[in-house]
Formats: sequence, structure tokens, C-alpha cells
Amino acid sequence: MNEQEAITAYMKRRGITGFRPKAALIDMDGTLYDSMGNHADAWYRLISGIGIECTRDEFFLYEGRTGASTINLLFNRAYGHDATPDKAKELYRQKTVLFSEMPPVSPMPAAKEMVDTFLSQGITTVLVTGSGQNTLLNRLDTDYPGAFPTERRITSRDVTRGKPDPEPFLKAMAIANAQPEECIAVDNAPLGVKSGAASGAFTIGVTTGPIPHDELHKAGADIVYPSMAELARRLPTLISLISLTAI
Ligand code: MG
Repeated sequence: MNEQEAITAYMKRRGITGFRPKAALIDMDGTLYDSMGNHADAWYRLISGIGIECTRDEFFLYEGRTGASTINLLFNRAYGHDATPDKAKELYRQKTVLFSEMPPVSPMPAAKEMVDTFLSQGITTVLVTGSGQNTLLNRLDTDYPGAFPTERRITSRDVTRGKPDPEPFLKAMAIANAQPEECIAVDNAPLGVKSGAASGAFTIGVTTGPIPHDELHKAGADIVYPSMAELARRLPTLISLISLTAI
């Protein structure tokens, strides 16, 4: 599906005849940072270390969930019940330590170009992450100057129901004082795409890891790009086509 078809299908689904993007609601891990491999490694070490059977690759599919939600999913599979809140908190603490000890991650190539395109078009950028990892949150101001000041961030600390629930994206819209039809969501993972689509935003899926293209379409993405470089390259066209609908 090309950009024009995606925009037309979105407007039809939302029952609107035009829209003007006011805010871009952007995921962090696997979107702004090439960090998913480290997260999968940290989770795998932690969870296999406490004797729960798991594979490294399955953690890519849990991307977007809060830490407690991932821990409870694995506890339920292994023991048939949630972890106690204290246990979940302690395990997530250990996971953040393991993650912080991994080799440093790089910003996703071309992600800054994407962010700069939004900003140059007067579109407000807001962070929407299920993470609470300060290792990366503390780098945003350096790697993406001016794009995600602390008042324009939704993290795991700000939501009661993380992705795939729409709450994180809805809260980000409130921060930007924008309606769903004024927002573009960007996420690399099925649960994040699902959350973005459920919030009513025009939702871009971008594959940056082992998750197949199709999974993002199935999760409800309005359009899927095969890489961040491709998204960055096509974004000016996408934005100008969207803006034409509002004239
Ligand atoms: Mg992600």
C-alpha cells in the first residue's frame, strides 16, 4: 500500500475528510534506539537465570509491554499466577541493571532525520515508551536535542495500562493537546502498533528488527516501512500528502 492509499483508508476508517498532523507520538526502543537486542539479552539472562524456560527471541514480541507485564506473563506461563508486586519490582530492577551493563546502544540510524522532519514541519514530538530505563531516557536530550523534553514524555511511570492498551498514546495526545486525527504514531513492535492504532492516531509501523513486516500490518498499522532509513526518506512525502487532505 502506498502513502496515498494508506491515508485514504485511514480517513475512511475514521469517518473524516481531511486531517492535519499536529503531533508525532514516537516509541523509544527499537524506534529511536537500536536497543532491542540488548533488552532481549537482559530479559533472557534474568528470566532463564531464575529457572523459567524461555527463548531470547520471544522477548522481541513482548516489546512495548511494561516490565511488570512481561514478568507476569512469564510467571503465569510457568506457575499459573502473577508475581507478587514486590517480586515483580525486584526482578525489573535486576533487569534494568543487566541492561545498563550491556554494551552501549546507538541511536537508530536515520531516526534523527525522522524526528527533525517532524519538527521542521511544526509537528510536536512526544515520547511514548513502555520503558522506565534511565540508561536511555537520560540520553534523549543529547541524541535528540529539543525533541523530547521531560514534559513531553510518557513512560512506564505515567500509565496504569501499558501498550497494547491505547492509554500511553492517549496520554501523549493530551500532552500535545491534540485529537487522535491530529496525531501520527510511530512504533516498531506489534503491541505498540496495536496501541497506536487503538488510540485513533494514523499509525506508522517500522520494522527495525526480526519482527516480520506482516505482524505490523496485522496489528493495525496504517502503513509499514521496511526500515527507519526508508521511513525517514518517505516521511516528507507522507506529511505533505496528509496536509493536502486538510485543504
Ligand atoms: Mg519499540
